[in-house]
Amino acid sequence: MIIMKFGGSSIGNADRITNTADIVKSNIDKKPVVIVSAVEGITDKLIELGNASAEGKGNDSLDNIKKIHYEILEKLELDKSLVDKNIGELSTIINKIKNDKKIDNKILDSVQSFGERMSSKIVAAQLNKIGVKALAFNAWDLGFITDSDFGNAEPLKETFANLNKNIKKLSVVPVITGFMGKTEDGEITTLGRGGSDYSAALIGSAIDASEIQVWTDVDGIMSADPKIVSNAKTIERVSFEEASELSFFGAKVLHPKTILPAVKKNIPVRVLNAFNPKGNGTSILNKVERGEQIIKSITSKKNIILIHVDSKRMLGAYGFLARLFDVFYKYKKSVDVISTSEVSVSMTLDNEKNLNDIVLDLKGIADVGVLKNKAVICIVGEGMRSIPRVLGKTFSTIGRNNINVEMVSQGASGINITFVVDGKDAESAVKCLHEEYYK
Ligand code: ADP
Ligand code: ASP
Ligand code: MG
Repeated sequence: MIIMKFGGSSIGNADRITNTADIVKSNIDKKPVVIVSAVEGITDKLIELGNASAEGKGNDSLDNIKKIHYEILEKLELDKSLVDKNIGELSTIINKIKNDKKIDNKILDSVQSFGERMSSKIVAAQLNKIGVKALAFNAWDLGFITDSDFGNAEPLKETFANLNKNIKKLSVVPVITGFMGKTEDGEITTLGRGGSDYSAALIGSAIDASEIQVWTDVDGIMSADPKIVSNAKTIERVSFEEASELSFFGAKVLHPKTILPAVKKNIPVRVLNAFNPKGNGTSILNKVERGEQIIKSITSKKNIILIHVDSKRMLGAYGFLARLFDVFYKYKKSVDVISTSEVSVSMTLDNEKNLNDIVLDLKGIADVGVLKNKAVICIVGEGMRSIPRVLGKTFSTIGRNNINVEMVSQGASGINITFVVDGKDAESAVKCLHEEYYK
């Protein structure tokens, strides 16, 4: 069995859904298990709809979401009533949000779930139309149970055995909603934005898939985001370690958590282009031999918050770092990049949740500075391990381009260099480094 996961971009309109179904059909001998995202842009629209409804606004947003799905169904010559039940249920939830004038993470998760719940039905119907026996499933119907961390849920242990048992007994191609599960109490949860990659990896691991294919709108993992660097190259092979570093630091082509369940079971992951299905894509493997290219990819992640903590009195003192990180532990906040000097610690966060409280607590132990709108740039490549030149070359390139570096960290894995620049410089930093390493 193989996992075939299709992102929103691969099912953004009727033509793309036709194309996706054809790709599945041509892999039918490999026993595909299909995982889908919502139709492109729909998750954003659902979040907007939920939040606007709490403020008594957003009346036409629901009609717009309905219209997008109706138009796709009409073009595919499928029955429009296919999504009516979902739209009806969504509309009931929206009315309740309007009445209550509030929304929380739990309700927002149930609102977001409708994107994948509708797209899975449409993809399954299209498959049946072209002669592939398929059935749409909400992930929870196959036993995808999670904890109750709404918006960022993790599967419970029993999920794996449930999925294995329920999927293996099917005699049709399942088209499963990515991105979601349910708690033991039956509340809908989501796994975080971009989470259907994670669903694909978890389900792939549960059924011992022979391969996890992530189908998207570019030729694979590339040397940089092709939206920033137009001549970015497709990378043939990356190691699991490289892939997790670069997805974590901004290569949105793969959700950062995707890799782990696959690594644990040694299942190969391949990123493929639904618009160029004959391409080889990128294979993510346990080990890759070192090639000519030292640097595999240059990524950037924007809207980063940089926190400087300064304590001339305390830094050398026993237990200072422990107290510092206790603050982050208390707010369940993960720090992405860290760098320490004799008298200061610098850290980055990728969102503002609980920021004020964190800063207040930190001020109890040290001087604190907060800088917003920063960007993390990350250079990844196994080849860097033994090439000390990379550091010098990287920062002389950045300096020549008049970009100010605000913090540097070299990961302990030795396969990445990460640094922080001002948000406005993110793209030029990626461009000039790409130019330097890929000329
Ligand atoms: P999907 O809808 O398939 O989940 P995403 O939009 O989440 O697709 O991810 C694909 C996008 O990731 C590409 O269109 C590309 O712009 C972006 N991207 C960012 N960094 C990279 C990279 N290093 N390699 C390939 N794509 C990248
Ligand atoms: N539809 C969800 C999102 O937009 C999940 C995904 O696409 O992976 O975040
Ligand atoms: Mg994605």
